[in-house]
Amino acid sequence: MLTGSCFCSEVSYELDGSLQKGRACHCSKCRKVFSGASSAYAELAPGSEIRWTKGTASLVSSRPRDGWAIGFCGSCGSTLCGLFNGEVHGLTLGCVDGDPGVEIEMHIFVGSKAPWDHIGGDAPQFDERPAGS
Ligand SMILES: [Zn+2]
Ligand SMILES: [Zn+2]
Repeated sequence: MLTGSCFCSEVSYELDGSLQKGRACHCSKCRKVFSGASSAYAELAPGSEIRWTKGTASLVSSRPRDGWAIGFCGSCGSTLCGLFNGEVHGLTLGCVDGDPGVEIEMHIFVGSKAPWDHIGGDAPQFDERPAGS
């Protein structure tokens, strides 16, 4: 059972299932959402379900764009999940407690990364998002 929580511990969840497709996206939007060099997230594997165990009232969604939105803690601002049409599509790896069971498998939108961002590790890097990923 995977668990996760925000910085202030007001919001927490359990994931019944697993994560897949760990990604770090270096685009300018992800840098803002994550206040860092990139995002770090993974999709829910098929059949996985998330249960908010605490603080659902504090869970805030950004205004959706093309169905996509970000779920974050309204108290501390931690980015917790990506939503598609109001459903949790993926989780941010930074808010998972312990080992999320996935690693960053690829870096995407490296073509627009910040000039101060030096990417480590040997996961493949793509200028944009490769097709089918
Ligand atoms: Zn919080
Ligand atoms: Zn991005």
